[in-house]
Amino acid sequence: MKHDTIIVGGGVVGLSVAYGLLKKGEEVIVLDGADDDARASHGNFGLVWIQGKGVSAPHYASWSRRSAALWGAYAGGLFEEAGVDVSLSQTGGIEYFTKEDELSAYVSELSGLRSALGGDYPFDVLEHETLKTYVPEIGPKVVGGVFTQMDGHVNPLNLLRALTIAVRQRGGTLITSLRVVDVVAHDPGFTAILADGRKVPGDGLVLAAGLGALELGHKLGFQVPIRPQQGQVLITEKLPHFLRYPSGTLRQVNEGGVQIGASKAEVGMDDTEDIATIANLAKQAVDVFPHLANVKLVRSWAALRVMSQDGLPVYQRSPKYQRASFVTCHSGITLSAAHAEVLPDWILAKNIAPDLSQFGEGRFDV
Ligand SMILES: Cc1cc2nc3c(=O)[nH]c(=O)nc-3n(C[C@H](O)[C@H](O)[C@H](O)COP(=O)(O)OP(=O)(O)OC[C@H]3O[C@@H](n4cnc5c(N)ncnc54)[C@H](O)[C@@H]3O)c2cc1C
Repeated sequence: MKHDTIIVGGGVVGLSVAYGLLKKGEEVIVLDGADDDARASHGNFGLVWIQGKGVSAPHYASWSRRSAALWGAYAGGLFEEAGVDVSLSQTGGIEYFTKEDELSAYVSELSGLRSALGGDYPFDVLEHETLKTYVPEIGPKVVGGVFTQMDGHVNPLNLLRALTIAVRQRGGTLITSLRVVDVVAHDPGFTAILADGRKVPGDGLVLAAGLGALELGHKLGFQVPIRPQQGQVLITEKLPHFLRYPSGTLRQVNEGGVQIGASKAEVGMDDTEDIATIANLAKQAVDVFPHLANVKLVRSWAALRVMSQDGLPVYQRSPKYQRASFVTCHSGITLSAAHAEVLPDWILAKNIAPDLSQFGEGRFDV
């Protein structure tokens, strides 16, 4: 059977796009690879995060904010359709600082971004005593923080589950644990060849294979300017809820554990943890919340970010084949709502689609 759109990759990006295309009435098949693939969607931090994003790229800040604003209705819709609560909380977020100079540098970056956005970028700088009224558990090393209502978090594994159910319920086909080993372009149309030799024909194709795009993308005419970047994350035993506001490195998950992360390391495709990084993450967490020193860590893991050269998403139509698009990003949880609710119009080249040309691969041309 020929499908309207083949989506290569069933992580949060591929599933969000699939769900959005199905809502537009498209027929979709999602082809997802092997269990030993790098899968950022299974190892991320779960933030729907805005502050600090796009300090040198206001269009990225706006796109992220647009997605965050869509998140409430999006999570509600997924709950209605899939019966899965993704535990969205958008009560705001706080970045904590233990060094005055780092806080000042951050505030001046955010102030620059606020000017670039015409003043529409609300945030509050909180000194230690004021911050304590928000989060009484902060320790004496915390000199201050930045609060904004724009930030939030979800349970990212529940998001994957909700999307998987919703895609199937809307009639999408999902083939898992089988890699696409080749793609043949007929122009118009594509055939994806699976590892077991099966051939899947489709009119359009979205390459949303995370780091797997490095193998398939060039053939479709994409530059694929991405690399792996390792992040390690820790989680504590379940604690009574105390942390109302997530930060970029600390959040209390809906089940009660405090998640601590995430490191950044350029180590290629290596997703193994190491004690030095774990110890450093734990120390930074205890600097902010001293009571965590008495809490057990129950798990740690490493996962690989899908990172472009400037950290921004890549939305690129193939220069070689009509109806092939490349979609990838580092913030797939934050952008999931936009990828489901807005990006499908761009994929389908509708005239109501947003202009995403600033996110194209051309920005990397010298
Ligand atoms: C430590 C860490 C923390 C993060 N924290 C956050 C956060 O707080 N907030 C946020 O918004 N984002 C966060 N991210 C980023 C976010 O997780 C990613 O942007 C997102 O998961 C990328 O999703 P993806 O679907 O593109 O890639 P992946 O999740 O890697 O999925 C790609 C899929 O494609 C499949 N695939 C690959 N090759 C093939 C092939 N040949 N054929 C078929 N299928 C194939 C793979 O099996 C995989 O399932 C974090 C990432 C990491 C690593």
